[in-house]
Amino acid sequence: MQSVDQSSSTNVQVFCRFRPLDDHERSLPNQRFIEILPNSKSVIVHPNKESREDAQFYFDYIFDEFSSQQLVYDKGARSVIEAVMQGFNGTVFAYGQTSSGKTYTMFGPNLDDPEAMGIIPHMITTVFYNIENSDPTNEYTVKVCCFELYLEKIRDLFDTSKENLKIREDKMRGVYLEGLTEIYVSTGEEVHELMKYGHQTRAVGAHRMNNESSRSHLIFSIAVSQTSTEDFTTKVGKLHLIDLAGSEKVDKTGAEGTRLEEAKKINKSLTILGQVITALSEGKRGYIPYRDSKLTRILQDSLGGNSRTSLIITCSPSSWNELETISSLRFGMRAK
Ligand code: ADP
Ligand code: MG
Repeated sequence: MQSVDQSSSTNVQVFCRFRPLDDHERSLPNQRFIEILPNSKSVIVHPNKESREDAQFYFDYIFDEFSSQQLVYDKGARSVIEAVMQGFNGTVFAYGQTSSGKTYTMFGPNLDDPEAMGIIPHMITTVFYNIENSDPTNEYTVKVCCFELYLEKIRDLFDTSKENLKIREDKMRGVYLEGLTEIYVSTGEEVHELMKYGHQTRAVGAHRMNNESSRSHLIFSIAVSQTSTEDFTTKVGKLHLIDLAGSEKVDKTGAEGTRLEEAKKINKSLTILGQVITALSEGKRGYIPYRDSKLTRILQDSLGGNSRTSLIITCSPSSWNELETISSLRFGMRAK
């Protein structure tokens, strides 16, 4: 059996979440091909074909199909928002093939149901809870933005007339998107409404282009700035919450035109993301290929350094999706 263990001691944490079998998967023979070990840190996959070996993968924590949204938030994302409230940057990614549970994990199955809140609504609630219960000598401002990357074009999800935002960089602001709509907010309810709006705009836009929202990366960002009324120092923490495009390989013979173009662009940006996270988690000092894709370029100041990163690999537990699941688990392992 292959087995590689690399425990992470960096600011990058990698998790894995298996969703329940869906109706189609339940109707098949050889349903479940994974075995999560009792410590919830290691999973063994038992491939269907006898020609393939069992393989074991290690993570900071593995969520099984019974894991609640609350547990995923507590173990997989809470430490990131705590860092952001201290003035550090943080990023949470959901990575996996289409229909593996990325949107369920980041947003939740129903945005109006507080019981089913995914990571983004949990984060929003926590930001405002912390602000309300903070030291009264701190003054806070919070602003949010939401955009998507589709075919390497950046589209503002709060103002869809802005379809091709440019990445700029200067000494004061660092890397930023020119003209991006940033909305100042003062309550959690406002941010929940904006989150719903951004999520909805992505879905409608995808539909209009005769596409699926799973072909774009969605980024919802919250910047929390706190100023001390005693010494007037300011700290800013930026949080990026990312529902990545589906990681599945496209059948090269079947795909053509836009579909093939999409697949190539998604592949490239996910590959570069993997390389950047791997380089960071290995603690490499030298060259990190941030500039090789728009996604990593935009996130440059929120990946690495003192930033906290959480990567959640979402998977199907069914042998029907065996190859994609193994590919996603490998991506996660490399990032650790
Ligand atoms: P993705 O965004 O990766 O394409 P979704 O989040 O849309 O996938 O999930 C696909 C389907 O599986 C949805 O119907 C979703 O409600 C369901 N699902 C995903 N994860 C879970 C989970 N952990 N528990 C229950 N249902 C889930
Ligand atoms: Mg989705």
